[in-house]
Order: sequence, then C-alpha cells, then structure tokens
Amino acid sequence: MNDLIPLVNKLQDVFNTIGSETVDLPQIIVVGSQSSGKSSVLENIVQRDFLPRGNGIITRRPLVLQLVNISQSDDSTTQEYGEFLHAPAQKFTDFVEIRKEIEAETARVAGQNKGISKSPIHLKIFSSKVLNLTLVDLPGLTKIPVGDQPTDIEKQTRNLILDYITKPNSIILAVSPANVDLVNSESLKLAKQVDSEGRRTIGVLTKLDLMDAGTNALDILTGRVYPLKLGFIGVVNRSQHDIATNKPMTEALKAEVEFFKHHPAYRSISSRCGTPFLAKTLNIILMNHIRERLPDMKARINALISQTQQELGLYGDGALTGKAQKAALILKLLNKFALDFMASIDGTAEEIST
Ligand code: GDP
Ligand code: MG
Repeated sequence: MNDLIPLVNKLQDVFNTIGSETVDLPQIIVVGSQSSGKSSVLENIVQRDFLPRGNGIITRRPLVLQLVNISQSDDSTTQEYGEFLHAPAQKFTDFVEIRKEIEAETARVAGQNKGISKSPIHLKIFSSKVLNLTLVDLPGLTKIPVGDQPTDIEKQTRNLILDYITKPNSIILAVSPANVDLVNSESLKLAKQVDSEGRRTIGVLTKLDLMDAGTNALDILTGRVYPLKLGFIGVVNRSQHDIATNKPMTEALKAEVEFFKHHPAYRSISSRCGTPFLAKTLNIILMNHIRERLPDMKARINALISQTQQELGLYGDGALTGKAQKAALILKLLNKFALDFMASIDGTAEEIST
C-alpha cells in the first residue's frame, strides 16, 4: 500500500509534463503565517537544511516537494539527493546547492524583489530517512506589504493559498505558533473557510518551547479547544539561535524528543508529539486519503484519455501538425501510465467500491 504515494507522484509527473491545469491530486498543503515555522517543520521532516531562509517573505513560489523513500540496502553508494523538474538531468547531492537552486528559480520567475508567483517549483528528494510524502510549501500570509511589494500582497498570497486548499483532494497542514493565541491563527481561519467541518485539516503547533512560563498547550493537543478530525500535533523546531550556531539536525531532533519526554504537561502524550510522529501520521493520512480517492482518480484519467483520443481524431490521419503531435504524445503517456496505474490499484479500487 505504501506504493500508492510514488504512484500518485508519477501521475503528477505525467500531468506536469503535459501541462494539464486540471489536476487535483492528493497532496499535503502547508499553510501558516510568516514565521510560524513552516519551513522548519518541512526541514525537520526531511532531516536536512535545504530551504532558503531569511527575514520577510522567502517562499515566493509554491514548492511541491515529493519525498521518496529509498532503502539504504539497495545500493551501498546510495546517498540522499534532490532533483528538480526544471533541471531533470541534474542530480543535487549537496543540499546547499538545492537551496541555491530554489533561490535562483524563485528569482527567475517571481523576480528579485518581494513579489510572488503562482507557478510552482517541483523538487524531489530521495532519501532513506524520509517516508513517502508529497508536501507543498506556500508563501506565508503577510498583513503589511514591505519594501516594493505590491499593495495587494496579502490578497495575492491568500488567493494562492486558497487555490491550493480549496481542492477537495488536498490535506491542509495548518501551522500555528503556540506562543500566539489560537483564535488568531491565520492558518486555521483559512482552513475553516474551505473545510468548515475540519475533516481534512491537521493542526501543527510549533514553538511549544516558547510559551510563557506556567502555560502549556495540552488542551489544544488533546483536541479540547479546536475540533479537527485529524487532530493537532505539537513540535519543537530549531530556534533562530540554533540555526545561527549551526545546530545539527540530528541534535535538534534528539532535543525535541527530550523536550516532550520530560515536560510535565506533555510527557503523558509524548509518543503522540514531535516530528517523527508528525511524519508518520502524515504518511498514513496521505495513503488513506489516496485510497479513498482512487475511484475518482481512475475515472478522471479515463475521461482524459478519451478526451485526448477525440481531439486526436479531429486532426485526421497523416497531418501530424504540432498540435496533433502533442496530443499523440499525451495519449501515449497517459495510456502507458493508465496501464501501470490501473494494474497496481485494481485490487484496492475494488475493495473500495464493494
Ligand atoms: P516560516 O516563515 O513559517 O517558514 O518560519 P520559519 O521556519 O522560517 O521559522 C521562523 C523563525 O522561527 C525561525 O527563526 C525559526 O528558528 C523559529 N522557529 C520555528 N519553529 C520554532 C520552534 O518550534 N521553536 C523555536 N524556539 N523557534 C522556532
Ligand atoms: Mg518559510
């Protein structure tokens, strides 16, 4: 069943290649206000530093991050590496270079300044330390334009986020910092707009280490404050000081475990807190979600195939113009994919429909 996520990743690649805009594939969308800890959560999940950092708005294009689990025993030389869809021939083994490439690609499309763009960057990370997951990092919500940002930057960002989270196939990972009152959480407000019953939103509470002395978030983490079907998970990421002093990721993850294990309020729920538990939970949620959506995805692939077939029919025989060539290529890709796809999900899809 763990094959489902790579399968959907492949489907995503097919759609990216043919430039289809109509895709709504199951994926996890990371939402939160600026500095709520979105990038930190993603880096902790990947267990590597690879995202651009700095003050202000850093994420200015959606980053579709496909994590691909490779087993270490496959090959003794197996190493973690990244690949971008826009540079398919290049294998990035140096994660500093991945960060630079994200920065360069961001600037190439969204400009050098503070503007944002809807066009996503696609990055795959292959590692034995990750679980199969597809996560989308989005620009954080900002209230006030800075520098030469357009005056409607808040609206632009909000619309971009809404584009992603409105799709019924998306799971919303709503990040809120624990040192700000939950009623002010921008991510939960947005999630509520599109998922009013809290069926496909999972809450992540960051900065638990920064709460005022004497206060804790136990009530939130145990679901007594804000109703979400998928619940809330608390994490502790590296602080600004940890980052400035280059605290290694492994140490930060160890410190996180210790924090929950020894905290008077959280030690009773420590097995359900922290980054490893978050990653595991997201992997399970995504798989279940894909399984639920299989019949629908199957139907849509079939519809797309017949639509393309019809289109191709219109061009008639012989005349392989540019457009016809493109349609023929799309059809070939889709057919090939559909065969693999249907073969590997058939058992599952039947289970669901019966
Ligand atoms: P983003 O803008 O939502 O992507 O937020 P970042 O991940 O860049 O984090 C913003 C700042 O908050 C950084 O200085 C992080 O070091 C800090 N930060 C994030 N999460 C935590 C946390 O759990 N604890 C502490 N102490 N600092 C955190
Ligand atoms: Mg960020």
